[in-house]
Amino acid sequence: MNFDAIIVGGGIIGCAHAFYLTQKGLKVALVEAASLGSGTSARNFSWANASTKLSDAAYHRLNALGVRLYGELATQFGAKTLGINPAGALEFARKSRPADYAAKQKKTARLVDLGYLCHWLDRNALRILEPSIALAKDAEAFITPDEKIVNTARFIGFLADQIKQRGGQIFENCSAREILADADGAVIGLATDLGEMAAKRLVIAAGPNTPEVLASLTGFDGFHRFPVNKLPGLLLTTPPLAPDLIHHLIHSDGETEVHFLPDFNGGLRIASDEVDGLITNDQSPDNLRKQGIELLRRAKTLLPDALDTVLIDDCKLAIGVRAYPQDGKSIAGPLPGSEGMYVIATHSGVTLAPAVGSLMAELVADGTVPEMLRPFLLDRLEGFG
Ligand SMILES: Cc1cc2nc3c(=O)[nH]c(=O)nc-3n(C[C@H](O)[C@H](O)[C@H](O)COP(=O)(O)OP(=O)(O)OC[C@H]3O[C@@H](n4cnc5c(N)ncnc54)[C@H](O)[C@@H]3O)c2cc1C
Repeated sequence: MNFDAIIVGGGIIGCAHAFYLTQKGLKVALVEAASLGSGTSARNFSWANASTKLSDAAYHRLNALGVRLYGELATQFGAKTLGINPAGALEFARKSRPADYAAKQKKTARLVDLGYLCHWLDRNALRILEPSIALAKDAEAFITPDEKIVNTARFIGFLADQIKQRGGQIFENCSAREILADADGAVIGLATDLGEMAAKRLVIAAGPNTPEVLASLTGFDGFHRFPVNKLPGLLLTTPPLAPDLIHHLIHSDGETEVHFLPDFNGGLRIASDEVDGLITNDQSPDNLRKQGIELLRRAKTLLPDALDTVLIDDCKLAIGVRAYPQDGKSIAGPLPGSEGMYVIATHSGVTLAPAVGSLMAELVADGTVPEMLRPFLLDRLEGFG
């Protein structure tokens, strides 16, 4: 089996990258150890956003490109086909919490400076936009209307259909086993559960298992120290609730930091960065239940009536594991010292899949590094320079 490029990992990142490579006319093989989208891409908060990515302008722009490309794909193929809810996000603030209020206003100004669509809203506007939310007397918010909620299973299904329509081949339940190289060490293919595949370009998009996959495929144990950590997070999904209960993704980091969104099952999906911190070292069933109750309690402060009768036992709890690069930013580019090998490993992969997938397609297909990708190459990290 001969291909122009092989991608290892059929999560949202590997699928998006394969999609853009096939759009460039490359003959692609996508190799997935289990089923497409069954890794971290099946257990996340699904928020395509750049409003929470402000520590670094280049990283913000990369995420903003992801948000914009979802919009363009939705125009081209239809939001429903892609599984995109173009809801926009609301982030609350209160004047009675002056430090937080000032920080939110500063954040809004920064987003506007960066050219990101964002408006400040008063309480009256919020009452109209979200009548079910129990607003504090001094509640205000900023809205980022271009942000999306992505049904990742549906989006991955769409990408897979497109890959196949353009001649790509997808191999599920097929683990990558070993990289095949010529006498000079250049990649010539991949040994897999289903036999050998030939290609001169190999892209590893294995999510949180990137270090282990690199080590096992190359036989070099040093890759166990590849600078990507695993960071778990807890997600709670309620059973279906009243239709149209909320219309936006809600983000509140006041006294009770919580975010929730209308899930595609008709309920709410709830998460909290603070609660994630409480499961990092203890993922026992007792602690997950306890933290699930905490998520419900936090969401109830904003939706007391709707969540009043919802019990933890009626909800679904799931843990997802983020691939978290050492400096918090994406890794995407050639593997230094190799010929023909590339790596993509990132958190915020739902947002970034179209951006990183398409920029990496330019690199892998054309051999040139797009400017936007330069800050995310591996050579910025210790040991790879
Ligand atoms: C709790 C939580 C909340 C999140 N919320 C958001 C959010 O709101 N917005 C956002 O943008 N991002 C969010 N993320 C991050 C996002 O989910 C991930 O960045 C994204 O899903 C990563 O996709 P991936 O394709 O890199 O990895 P994965 O989805 O894990 O895919 C990697 C695939 O590689 C396969 N694989 C591994 N080894 C092999 C092998 N040897 N051979 C073949 N295949 C192999 C695996 O089976 C897997 O399917 C969240 C993550 C978590 C955990």
